[in-house]
Parts: sequence; C-alpha cells; structure tokens
Amino acid sequence: MKHLELAEIAKLLSEGTPFAESCRHLAENCPTCGERLGQVDALMKRFRHWDAETVVREGLAADRLFEALLKKGQGLAGWSALVEEKAKYQTWGVAWVALERAQAQIADVATRAHAWELALLAVTIAGYLGASYHPDSIADLKALAHATAAAAGSPEDGSFDTLRQVAAAMAALDQGSGDPAVARDVVDLLSRALCNVRGPRSRPGSPPTVRRRRAARRG
Ligand SMILES: [Zn+2]
Repeated sequence: MKHLELAEIAKLLSEGTPFAESCRHLAENCPTCGERLGQVDALMKRFRHWDAETVVREGLAADRLFEALLKKGQGLAGWSALVEEKAKYQTWGVAWVALERAQAQIADVATRAHAWELALLAVTIAGYLGASYHPDSIADLKALAHATAAAAGSPEDGSFDTLRQVAAAMAALDQGSGDPAVARDVVDLLSRALCNVRGPRSRPGSPPTVRRRRAARRG
C-alpha cells in the first residue's frame, strides 16, 4: 500500500469530519505518513490559512516564486507591475512570504526601507486575491501588511504616509475575521509604528527644541 501524498493529506483535512480524523489516525500508525502530515501542519501554521489544500498548493511554491519576483522586478513599482501581469504571483502564499520577509527586516534600520516596500508588495498582492479566498481572511492579510508597513515607517520622511498605513490597517482589521491572534499582531505592530511617528523634522539651523535646551542646561 502506498503512503499518502501531501496533496492527498491536504484534501482529506479540507474535507473535514470524518476524513480529517481518519487521516490523522492513519498518520499516527505510519511514520512516513505521520511525517508528511507534520509537513502539512507546519505549512498551515506558517501561512496562517485555514484551508489545507490552498496551503499545500501555494505554500510549497511560494518561496521560489517570491525570490523570482524580487529578482525580476526593481523595487515596488517593478514588482507591482509583474504581479499585475502574471497570475502566478497573485497567491496568498507569495503575499505571505513578502509579509514574513518584511517583518523580519523591520528591526534593523539598514533594512527598514526595504521592509516598507515588501509590506506594500504584500498589500498589492492581497488586492489581487479573488473569490477563492475568503474576503475576511484577505482583510486580515491586508491589516497585517498595512500594519507591518506602518511599523517599518515610511522611508520618505513620512509620518503622514505612516499614519495612512495605520488607518488602512485599522479599516482592514474591522473587515477581517475577528481572529484574536491577528488583532494582537496588528495592535503590536501599530504600537511600534506610533512610537516612531514624529512631527515634521526641524530644519538644519532651526532653533533647538525645548527638550534639547533643557538637556543642554542639565549637561
Ligand atoms: Zn504511510
């Protein structure tokens, strides 16, 4: 008897009761099938999408497609044009990889501008996700992507741009699934974003701010 393929496991899980339970029971009794079920579970956890078939179909190809997109396009405008042109990039999986990469690059000042672009790439791809994805889940993805852009901060001295991302994240969150894990992540990202927002920068040669004068007195 042959072992279950990843796609077959995904199909059984997507079917729900009693197929999903049968699949898990089988996997408990066969190490190879158990390992493959573990792979599907890991993909579902990583891509945070409820449908196993979508996750297996898109998740396995997502990293490769994302790398190809990044290599072929130059910056956000180029990537967006490619996404518009080729349906293969218009998947939950590719959007999710862009989001992951953006989030990984927020902390470092040197990569923050790139993180902003990648988060907006995820927003762009989410805009192309059609009827086969649940609208609430697409809204969750958009909320996370806008919040990630906000946390990265606009590279163009843009508190205004950052606040636009904050507003877009809140609007998308309102339309989303209500998943508390998504809400928690969005709120975390937005609080980081709001810590970074500053008023207009003082020009060189402008008088020092009150705080700086006070600091100078103390020193
Ligand atoms: Zn097996």
